[in-house]
Amino acid sequence: MNGGRLVAQLTANLPELRGRLAAEAPLKEYTWFRVGGPAEVLYSPADEADLAYFLKHLPADIPVTNIGLGSNLLVRDGGIEGVVIRLGRGFGEIKIEEGGRLRAGTAVPDVKVARAAADAGISGLSFYRGIPGSVGGALRMNGGAHGKETCEALVEARAVDRHGNIHVLPVADLHYSYRHCGAPEDFIFTEALFQGEPGDPAKILAEMDEIAAYREEVQPIKSRTGGSTFKNPPGHKSWQLIDAAGCRGLSVGDAKVSEMHCNFLINEGNATAADIETLGETVRARVKQTSGVELEWEIKRLGIPA
Ligand SMILES: Cc1cc2nc3c(=O)[nH]c(=O)nc-3n(C[C@H](O)[C@H](O)[C@H](O)COP(=O)(O)OP(=O)(O)OC[C@H]3O[C@@H](n4cnc5c(N)ncnc54)[C@H](O)[C@@H]3O)c2cc1C
Repeated sequence: MNGGRLVAQLTANLPELRGRLAAEAPLKEYTWFRVGGPAEVLYSPADEADLAYFLKHLPADIPVTNIGLGSNLLVRDGGIEGVVIRLGRGFGEIKIEEGGRLRAGTAVPDVKVARAAADAGISGLSFYRGIPGSVGGALRMNGGAHGKETCEALVEARAVDRHGNIHVLPVADLHYSYRHCGAPEDFIFTEALFQGEPGDPAKILAEMDEIAAYREEVQPIKSRTGGSTFKNPPGHKSWQLIDAAGCRGLSVGDAKVSEMHCNFLINEGNATAADIETLGETVRARVKQTSGVELEWEIKRLGIPA
């Protein structure tokens, strides 16, 4: 990695850039697990036009990785080569539109979408109260909870591709399935338009309180975790398979399978990304051995080992 040189090169070649570039930026603080190495270069675009300008002029051989609020990420200890893009304030607006619609920038936390919808008397978005990511992460992961998924509430999304072209994509073009979005991997979402129904704010807020209370009871939400580690395989619940394989409480270094919810891995203090990944792979192997089922990672693992 030579982030300093890359920043100097980009600054010289992109005179109209308005966003911020930082060399060898630690990513630990941007992920829920609080592990992982630095980004060679971290770029925080000023707004969508700035992002498009950057991608258009970035040499094709420089890899680009996009992160949201890091609640579904394991960044490996060696960090991420090339440019990591993290959207911030320029993508943080929420607008209420006619007909029960809500438009949100993709840096907006899901919880804020739920709150703004409740305040505006829009029901159908309260499931976002329980998902600790951003709108961008929800679009990419088809985030869902309490019986509803992002693709059921979404009308369309805006995205910028690796060449800096802007796309407006109706939900059907995103080819959604369980925790999967079929949009090209290089698309960085910048905005989402959601559709809700008219609702009573007090009732919606009460529903959100119930969701929050339930979460606190069944998930280790105050721990350093990445949420559900593995997708539920068809016809199974991952946590049940993990429990049946005897993995509840299993640990590698400071990485531990949560006692409270065994599809959650936890950093108990000084775990490395390697500890967490090794623990996850150990769980996968034991589940395969006991049940024959191959678990698929839901958490996105990025970067290179130390
Ligand atoms: C305690 C806890 C509880 C959780 N509960 C749930 C739950 O109930 N339901 C659920 O679905 N998930 C849950 N999660 C997982 C996580 O919150 C979701 O996957 C969330 O949508 C991730 O959003 P993020 O902004 O944190 O994305 P990140 O974790 O930063 O990134 C996840 C993926 O999204 C991509 N991405 C992020 N932003 C963009 C963007 N703007 N454009 C394109 N791609 C982007 C990244 O490249 C990466 O591939 C939970 C996590 C935790 C820690």
